[in-house]
Amino acid sequence: MSFIVAIDGPAGTGKGTITALISKHMGLINIDTGATYRCVALAMLNNNIKLEEKEKIIELLDKIEIDIKNEKSKQTILLNGEDVTTQIRSKEVSQIVSQVSSIVEVRLKLVELQRKLAMGKDVIMEGRDIGTYVFPKADVKIYLDADEEERAKRRYKECKQKGIEMSYEEVLKNIQIRDKNDKEKEIGALKVAEDATVIDTTNLSINQVKNQVKKIIRKKQKEIEHRKKVYTPRPDTKWKQIEYKMVKAFLRGLYRIVYRVKKVGEENIEDDKPYIICANHINYLDAAAIVLFTKRKVCFVGKEDLCRSVILNWLAHLFDCIPIKRNAQDIEAMKRSFKVLKENGILGIFPEGTRKGLAKGAAIKNGAAFMAVRTGSTVIPVGIKGSFKPFTRVTVNYGKPLDYSKCQSKSPEKEVLNQVSEEIMSNIIMLTK
Ligand code: C5P
Repeated sequence: MSFIVAIDGPAGTGKGTITALISKHMGLINIDTGATYRCVALAMLNNNIKLEEKEKIIELLDKIEIDIKNEKSKQTILLNGEDVTTQIRSKEVSQIVSQVSSIVEVRLKLVELQRKLAMGKDVIMEGRDIGTYVFPKADVKIYLDADEEERAKRRYKECKQKGIEMSYEEVLKNIQIRDKNDKEKEIGALKVAEDATVIDTTNLSINQVKNQVKKIIRKKQKEIEHRKKVYTPRPDTKWKQIEYKMVKAFLRGLYRIVYRVKKVGEENIEDDKPYIICANHINYLDAAAIVLFTKRKVCFVGKEDLCRSVILNWLAHLFDCIPIKRNAQDIEAMKRSFKVLKENGILGIFPEGTRKGLAKGAAIKNGAAFMAVRTGSTVIPVGIKGSFKPFTRVTVNYGKPLDYSKCQSKSPEKEVLNQVSEEIMSNIIMLTK
């Protein structure tokens, strides 16, 4: 899996400087996509090909090889094996590069190359269309912006330092033409991606921008790390099985100190058969009652933010709970749920979706019904009774199995799901009376 940071924005916003600094500080591979377009422009100049000669430009694409090497945080641009890092910044290249990059064939070819350069790596990629076109699913998207005049001032200073002869007016004009061209491109036009963070760098120092960008990247990296921790199931080792039994027995003991637990109808659950347990949801202690007091292991589907605490995350992994993203189609959670049933396990779902869902008037979620119909499984409705005040009784009432093998379907219709949900829920309600 690669990690991709997209830095987009017009010329002179500091993309190159920031990208190089972040690459060095955070160990990400620096890919300057503008350099790839500059290479094509340079190759055209070297071969005396004019902008109007589109056929020749397209032919040229097959004859050139562009590569970007990163060594000790220094980026080297290679055109047919030759180091052209400095040459591609010349005035002549800058004057035509924007038009060259507007040619659809050039873009398609170079976008393919850019994707290949990033494949399987952790990269920071700067350009105009990285977050919108090259990597629309980039992990981090940042759009750097600044006033036109400030950008021209920066570029002018840069040209002077590099010994490129250009007046301030020429630089400004070049930036204006490039901005217009970049915004009007047929594909990969310069625009802000919907999910990008925009940073206006006009009045910010390089250090300030760098720190803002670093903070955004760190936050995302932490999020990914957390998701990995939550979503990666704990391997089923011998030690885990022992730990599971010990912790289950210990927590059951604790539970019994506080509540008098009564189980009714557990004989409805046979050994070695897959089931979906569907229960009412009053508070978190009802899930605990089912998990701790059902003889067989019940793998509950629960919202992922429950795993934010270290202890709950450990328990969730020990009890093979399946974390699920709220209000989103969570394919990973679905796959894990299918696996539990395929391996003859018991899946636990609260059809109410949320605690006291029915009492709050929330619509019943079709997730449990979907699982049952999609896999043709048997549902065990469970009613939990109790006030959950300390030292009172909690009854776990296992109902008769509801067999959905006859209506199994790969793509269940909504009406069927609504009916199944209602049947499950009315059984649960009966068991709570
Ligand atoms: O970033 P730089 O100024 O080196 O880019 C040169 C030109 O390449 C830009 O003016 C733009 O027209 C084009 N470009 C592009 N898409 C990218 C990067 C650069 O069209 N992703």
